[in-house]
Amino acid sequence: MSVVGERSRMYIGGAWVGAATGNTMVVTNPATREPLAELPDAGREDVWRAVDEAASAFPKWAATPAIERGRILYRIYSLMTDRRDDLARAITQENGKPFDEAKREVAFATGYFSWFAEEARRVYGDIVPSPVPGKRLWVIKQPIGVVGAITPWNFPATMVTRKIAPALSAGCTVVLKPASATPLTALILARICEDSGLPPGVFNVVTSKSASVVGQVFLEHESVRKIAFTGSTEVGKRLMAGASQQLKRVSFELGGNAPFIVFEDADLAAAADGAVAIKFLRVAGQSCICANRVYVQQSIADRFIPMFVERVKALRVAPGFDAGAQIGPLINGEILEKVDSLVQSAVRQGAQVAAGGTRVTEGALSKGLFYAPTVLTSVREEMDVAREEIFGPVAPVMTFKDEAEVIARSNATRFGLAAYFYTNGMVGVNDPSGYTHEIPFGGFKESGMGREGGHQGIEEYMEVKSISIGM
Ligand code: NAP
Repeated sequence: MSVVGERSRMYIGGAWVGAATGNTMVVTNPATREPLAELPDAGREDVWRAVDEAASAFPKWAATPAIERGRILYRIYSLMTDRRDDLARAITQENGKPFDEAKREVAFATGYFSWFAEEARRVYGDIVPSPVPGKRLWVIKQPIGVVGAITPWNFPATMVTRKIAPALSAGCTVVLKPASATPLTALILARICEDSGLPPGVFNVVTSKSASVVGQVFLEHESVRKIAFTGSTEVGKRLMAGASQQLKRVSFELGGNAPFIVFEDADLAAAADGAVAIKFLRVAGQSCICANRVYVQQSIADRFIPMFVERVKALRVAPGFDAGAQIGPLINGEILEKVDSLVQSAVRQGAQVAAGGTRVTEGALSKGLFYAPTVLTSVREEMDVAREEIFGPVAPVMTFKDEAEVIARSNATRFGLAAYFYTNGMVGVNDPSGYTHEIPFGGFKESGMGREGGHQGIEEYMEVKSISIGM
């Protein structure tokens, strides 16, 4: 199936439609900055209608037996598997990540449908002993209602399926607003949902470059009972404040500032490979769980840092469809400038550039938004590059003396999403990629609230109801 069919319409109430105003927006390829597609730019009226459609579809979908909902989710899983190359191609085109990485993302994103297809049947309630005679007490779980979902551009498939699979499994209906940079993947997912037999209105996709207008409808429309958001902490806070007006349920997957700690007893080659994988090989560092600060124990810094730098210098920066590409473009000019200004300001404050440190503009790369994989040494915590989420291919390296010190420094951040360490001690983690469908994922502190994945993932989309029966 080609991606082209999805390119001019969005999906509302089971129909492929334009914006009521006729307005459109353009999606561009960050590797070339050429236009890829022209899509509807949904406004208030379109989003309101999408929520109405989701609200009309809700009672029937909620009443559909869980086993049947699970069967449809399993068909979505099968169709995603059949169309995995179309999905991966769309991801590389609109997001820029290397095609092999996009294929891995699609395989992972698909897994949320098989996991939650099975979980639909396992939403159990409780029978609770009554404290008084002549009563039966039940506790049941019910789908919460219409979900307004908002997703970012860094994982155009996974961020969507990690929300919609549990929501649909629970019996909720959904209006999704994908990132304006990466709506094509979401539209292919909508086509897959349509082809799977998912009833009209159960899943709707609105494409829009007016994110705050979409967010405002989700906050104002009384049928939206839950807002599921992945993105920046700042937007999350704004949505949370707005959601208080109608006490809507919210779940947030927000920013991170993950430490990556290398202790002196670690396998240094494995640690250097792990640091490269978790810092650079996920969307060129534009991931919320990327290592944002690398802490190396002083006693091994002279050995570890050159090993790490050598690996970083060997990374291949290239457009995503080039064979062997490892680092694709950044998503937009704003991120590119932010990454470069974090590097330049660190350098002005005394950081040393051990690799990279500039844009890459040679040959065909001059058309895109490429930044050289960068290692900074002599970094100090007060520098912005260590305090802020970098969201790019830059690794600030710092040294530490002992465990107590590095734990205190690692935790001295407003974020709390991911952390990594390499050691040979009793509790070795030594794994840069410990996240999977079967376990819940989510943040502490300003990194978010609520969990996605695991059996907890479905409960985010359910209300608990207590029933007391007089006998
Ligand atoms: P963002 O600016 O917050 O955008 C995320 C989504 O929210 C996009 O769909 C965006 O629409 C929309 N949006 C922007 N302003 C809005 C508003 N006022 N009301 C409603 N929606 C609004 O974040 P980003 O820069 O694209 O994404 C990067 C951030 O996401 C990072 O902080 C990263 O850590 C976080 N993230 C977290 C996780 C996690 O699981 N914790 C996963 C991935 C990313 P437009 O695209 O139209 O701007």
